[in-house]
Amino acid sequence: MIKKELLKLRTMNATSKMMQMADADVPKRTVYKTWNGEHVSLSYKCSLYLRCQVTHGFLKVAFFLPEYMRTGGKKAAYELYIDKEKGEFITYDRIRQKWLTAKVDMLPWPGYFYNTKNKWISPQGHDRIKKYLGGEHGGYKGLLEYQLKIRAEELKRRHKRETDPWDLDMAQTPKLPKDWERWVNKVGITENYIFYQYSRKGAETGYCTFCEKEVAVSKPRHNKTGRCMRCRHEVTYKSIGKAGIVMTKDSKMYLMQRCEDGFILREFNGYRKYRKGDYKNPEVSSWEVRRAIYDHNASPMNAYYWGLYPKIRIIVTQ
Ligand SMILES: [Zn+2]
Repeated sequence: MIKKELLKLRTMNATSKMMQMADADVPKRTVYKTWNGEHVSLSYKCSLYLRCQVTHGFLKVAFFLPEYMRTGGKKAAYELYIDKEKGEFITYDRIRQKWLTAKVDMLPWPGYFYNTKNKWISPQGHDRIKKYLGGEHGGYKGLLEYQLKIRAEELKRRHKRETDPWDLDMAQTPKLPKDWERWVNKVGITENYIFYQYSRKGAETGYCTFCEKEVAVSKPRHNKTGRCMRCRHEVTYKSIGKAGIVMTKDSKMYLMQRCEDGFILREFNGYRKYRKGDYKNPEVSSWEVRRAIYDHNASPMNAYYWGLYPKIRIIVTQ
């Protein structure tokens, strides 16, 4: 809404009927004492008077306050403009001469505004508001309901803006490769063991966790490292009698995949766990901890981190 244009729209003054009503509404004064002296609270029968018109596609509502009307002031304290087509509203504060974005209930009203719910508007004005806004109510209530609806829509749009990139990125995340679990087990997790049965003469064979076979060993010693003679992988020897639960350290693994924007880099953690006496059937675990999307020029776009909560997003600034 162009503010300058809005101010050019016809000014509405309080009608003589409103002025008479305000004149007759002598406020009730309540004096109350607090720690810092006496205070006076005013109560009117009607705390606000409204006039409205539909002009140039806008709904313009003028709000008049009895305290000024009772001294002859016909000018509005606030003027609210609603552009229904754009779903926008703004209020001009004529006393302080500034624009306000607050809803009608949050405008800086005088204290007596809250002492009564009575507000006056002509039946025609009431219906005009209802008709223009297309809501369930007219008058002040209709205005507030409309503004609440606009605020809710704004919030929804903002939330959508924030979650849209996430959803898009999730949609373009490819499936894990078919042999991913095997790769995790054999390549991603690098630690391997040879489990052997201790004998006084020295064990001659042991079970290599990489080969998944009995392999020849020569003088293995518990927790010492060596190499499997068959697969040449570095191994840690584990005496079956002495080893309790054996667990590899967490291994970091990275998976790079093509996606719509360019490519996606996924970080995983994983480990293998051997239960006592069941070293041929390890439990292999891996889980994704980070995900980053890069465009075709390898510039980072969005990154996600799997923390305690599953959808924490970290924006990588470019
Ligand atoms: Zn081996």
